[in-house]
Amino acid sequence: MVNPFMKKIMRPTVDLGRCSKCGGCLEVAPEIFRFSESGGYIEICDLDYYDRDKVEEAMKLCPEDCIHWDD
Ligand code: SF4
Repeated sequence: MVNPFMKKIMRPTVDLGRCSKCGGCLEVAPEIFRFSESGGYIEICDLDYYDRDKVEEAMKLCPEDCIHWDD
């Protein structure tokens, strides 16, 4: 059962269909975004907390506008 008092973690997500793998997000927030060598795509690191400012900086920088907050 989900604890209603537990705050949901805001987690970023990458639309892989649009990502051009430019690497911009990796430069801005390497602690949040990483390149999966085996998969060949950008993935989100598993963290307990995502720095909102860092994620939003990556969002602004992303040329494909493919970083979003997961609902
Ligand atoms: S900045 Fe955007 S387009 Fe570039 S690698 Fe990251 S998610 Fe992909």
